[in-house]
Amino acid sequence: TRSSEDTRPASVGRRWGFIGAGKMATALVQGMLRSGAAERPEIAASDPLEAARTSLGVETGVAVFPENPPVVEVSDILVLAVKPQSMRKVLAELRPLVGPEHLVISIAAGVPISTLVAGLGPDRRVVRVMPNTPALLGEGASAYALGPGVAAADQDLVERFLTSVGRVVRVPEALLDAVTGLSGSGPAFVYLMIEALSDGGVRVGLPRDIATTLAAQTVLGAARMVLETGLHPGVLKDQVTSPGGTTIAGVHALEARGVRGALIDAVEAATARSAELS
Ligand code: NAD
Repeated sequence: TRSSEDTRPASVGRRWGFIGAGKMATALVQGMLRSGAAERPEIAASDPLEAARTSLGVETGVAVFPENPPVVEVSDILVLAVKPQSMRKVLAELRPLVGPEHLVISIAAGVPISTLVAGLGPDRRVVRVMPNTPALLGEGASAYALGPGVAAADQDLVERFLTSVGRVVRVPEALLDAVTGLSGSGPAFVYLMIEALSDGGVRVGLPRDIATTLAAQTVLGAARMVLETGLHPGVLKDQVTSPGGTTIAGVHALEARGVRGALIDAVEAATARSAELS
C-alpha cells in the first residue's frame, strides 16, 4: 500500500500480475526488468501450462503459479496475456477476483474493451494494447487505447510499461485494427522484403549469409535514420539518389512494379482481416 506522501513514480512499488506466461508475457517481463520499470519481486505470473511457467521462471526469475487467484490477490496491475480464444474463460474466472482497485491491461488481439468490461464487471479499469513481436528484443511498436474510467496516472504507468519494450502510441480504440494491419502484421511484411532483398543479393553473386546480413542491417539502419533524424522518408530517399546513379535506377524498378501500392494494399488487407476477426 502507498501512503499519500508517496512521491515515487506511479509504477514504482506496484505489483504486476501476468495472466498467461507465454511468449508475449516473457518479452514484456524481460523488458520491464531490463529497463527498471519494475523489480523482480514486484512481478508474478500464472499459467496452467507447466512448460510456460518453467520457461518464464527460468528466463526472468519472477514467481510463477499454476492458478490465477494467488496472482490476482497480490497484484495492482493485471496483464491479460492469453490468446484471444482463452479470454472468455479467463474473464469468467477473474470476474469475482478483480475490483475497481485493479488496472487491467489486455494484450489480446481483437478483444474489444467492451467485451473486457462486460466480462469483468462495470467500473473495471481496462486498457487494451496491441504490441508486436519485436517487443521480444525491446524493439516493439505498441499502441494502446484507454477504457472508460482510466485515470491519468494509469496512462502514465501503461506508457512506462510499453516503453520498456519499444515505442508506444495512444490511439482511439477504433484505430486498433489499423494498428494491427500496420505494426502488428508489419514484421512479416518486412521479413518478406528482407528475404527478397537477400535473394536479389544472391542473384547478383553474393553468398546467402552475407546477403541476408546486409539486407537486414540495411532495413535496420534505414529505419533508425527515419526515427532518429525525424526527416521525411522521401527526403532521405532523395538524399541517396544521385542524378543518373545506381540508386535511382533501383527506385525506378520498384516504382515500375508498384511496390508502394502493394504495401498500401498489404496494410489495408491485414486491417480488414483484423476487423473481420474481432
Ligand atoms: P502464447 O500461447 O505464447 O501464451 C499464452 C499463454 O496463456 C499460454 O502459455 C497458455 O497456457 C496461457 N493460458 C491459457 N489459458 C490460460 C488461463 N485460463 N489462465 C492463465 N493462462 C492461460 O501466446 P502469445 O504469443 O504470448 O500471445 C498472448 C497474447 O498476446 C495473445 O492474445 C495475442 O493476441 C497477443 N499478441 C501476440 C502477439 C505475438 O506476435 N505473439 C502480438 C500482438 C499481440
